Amino acid sequence: MTDTATGLDTGLAELRGRLTGSLSTDADVLASYATDQSAHRADGAALALVRAGCVDDVVATMRFAHALGVPVVPQGARSGLSGGACAVDGCILLSVASMDRVLEVDEANMTVTVEPGIINKDLKDALRPRGLAYPPDPGSVAISSVGGNIATNAGGMCCVKYGVTRQYVREISVVLADGTLTRLGQRTVKGVAGLDLVSLLTGSEGTLGVIVEATLKVVPLGTDPLSALATFPSVGAAVQTVAAYMATGASPSMLEMMDGMTIGLLGEVGDFGLDASVGAVLLMQSDATTAADDTRAFAAVAEAHGAVDVAFADNPVDSDLLVSARRAVQVANERYASTHGGGQMIDDVCVPRSRLADFCAGVEAIRDDTGTSVGLVAHAGDGNVHPSVFYDLADEASVAAATTAFDRIMALGLELGGTITGEHGVGALKAAWLPSEIDAGNRALHRAVKSALDPTAILNPGKMLEHL
Ligand SMILES: Cc1cc2nc3c(=O)[nH]c(=O)nc-3n(C[C@H](O)[C@H](O)[C@H](O)COP(=O)(O)OP(=O)(O)OC[C@H]3O[C@@H](n4cnc5c(N)ncnc54)[C@H](O)[C@@H]3O)c2cc1C
Repeated sequence: MTDTATGLDTGLAELRGRLTGSLSTDADVLASYATDQSAHRADGAALALVRAGCVDDVVATMRFAHALGVPVVPQGARSGLSGGACAVDGCILLSVASMDRVLEVDEANMTVTVEPGIINKDLKDALRPRGLAYPPDPGSVAISSVGGNIATNAGGMCCVKYGVTRQYVREISVVLADGTLTRLGQRTVKGVAGLDLVSLLTGSEGTLGVIVEATLKVVPLGTDPLSALATFPSVGAAVQTVAAYMATGASPSMLEMMDGMTIGLLGEVGDFGLDASVGAVLLMQSDATTAADDTRAFAAVAEAHGAVDVAFADNPVDSDLLVSARRAVQVANERYASTHGGGQMIDDVCVPRSRLADFCAGVEAIRDDTGTSVGLVAHAGDGNVHPSVFYDLADEASVAAATTAFDRIMALGLELGGTITGEHGVGALKAAWLPSEIDAGNRALHRAVKSALDPTAILNPGKMLEHL
C-alpha cells in the first residue's frame, strides 16, 4: 500500500470518528449510491459515502477533502436526470439526504427554514395544515429534495404561473470547498446588500458549494384548481394552441402537453381515462377565482385550433386523476424502455413559446430521419419540452441513432433561440454541450467564478463546468 493510500485510509477513519452521520467504504453501498435517475453511468468508483447528519459533518468532510484534494459529489435524493449526482473516480459521495428537518415556520414573515434533504412533498405536507404552500412542483415532487431542487433550480408543472425554485429562495447556508460555512442572501422580502450570491449558487449543481440550510418564501394555500383536457389530432395543433392561449395574457396554473405515443404508454400502467388514439392532449388548470371562465376561454382557443374534444374536470378527484397521469409518464416510459432494449435518453430543451410548433415539428423530423422512437411531453406553457429517445442498449446502431437524435434535438433548440436545458440541469449528460450555448466571455466568467469558489476544483468535477 502506498503512503498516499495509507494517508487516505487513516484520514477516512479519523473523519468517520468525527461524524454524527456515517461513512461507508463498502463497495456494494458505494455502488448503490453511484448514480441518479439519468442514463448516465458513474465515471469510476467512489472512495467513500458520507451520510451527513448535521452541518458540522459537511464542514468536516469538505475540510478533509480540501486538505487531501479528494473530489466531492454532493447528493440529495438522486432523482436527477442529468448525471449531476453520479460518482466520479475516487470521490466522496456526500449525501445530505438525512438532514431533512423543518427548522422553523415563520408565519409572520411567510418563510420556512429547512435542512436540504427534506423531500419537496414532505415540506408541502408539513405546511398544508397551517394553510401555507411552497409552490415549486417538479414532476419528482415526491422523490426529490429541496436542496437538490435549489442546486438544479428545479422547475415543474406550476412554473407557468408560480415560477421556478429560485423565486422562492431567500437565504441559504452553504459549506464552501475549503469547509468554510457561510450564509448567503437575506430573509427579508427585499434585500440588495452585496452581490446576489443566492442566484449564483441556485442551479450551480454542486459545483460551487454544498447547500446545508435554506429559508424559503411560502404563500397562502390556494383553492383547488379546475382542469380542462383538450384532445388534438396532432402535436402541432396542440402546441399552436399553447402559443395562442398564452398570448391572450392567460395565467394558467398548469399547461402540460403529452403526445399520442406517451398517452398510449400511460394506458399500459393505469386507467387514466385517456383516449390512446389521439395525436396529443393539453392539460390545463386554473386555480384563480376566475377558474371556470379560464377553462372555458382555454376551450375556445383549443377548439379554434382544431381540438376534437375538450373535457372539463370540475372536482378535485377528477383533476388529481389527470395530474397523476402526467406524473406517471416517467413510470410508463421506463416500462416501455424495459421491453424495448432498456435505453431512454430524456432531453429537456426550452424554446420561446412562439417556436414550440417549429421545435416539435423538428423533433418529429429528427425522429423519422434517425429511425428512432421518440415520445414527447412538455411543460408546454413554459416552452419546455422533454423528448424521450428510446433505444436498444445492446445494439450499437440503435445507441448511435439515439445519440444522434438526442444531439440534434439540442442543436435544434439552440437554433430556435432556446436552451439545452430548461430545468434538469447540465450535469454530466450535457457538459460537452454547454460551450455551444454560452459565448467566450461567458465561459471565462464561469471559469473565474469556479476558481474563486473552488480553487482546487474538488466540487463535482466532470460535470457542468468540465468543458469550459
Ligand atoms: C420522474 C421524474 C420527474 C422529474 N420532473 C422534474 C421536473 O418536473 N422539473 C425538474 O426541474 N426536474 C425534474 N426531475 C429531475 C430531478 O428530480 C430534479 O433535478 C431535482 O431537483 C433533483 O433533486 P435531488 O434531490 O434528487 O438532487 P440530486 O439528483 O441528488 O442532485 C442533483 C444535482 O444537485 C446537486 N446537489 C444535490 N443536493 C445538493 C446540495 N444540498 N448542495 C449542493 N448541491 C446539491 C448534485 O450534486 C447534482 O448535481 C424529475 C426527475 C424524475 C426522476
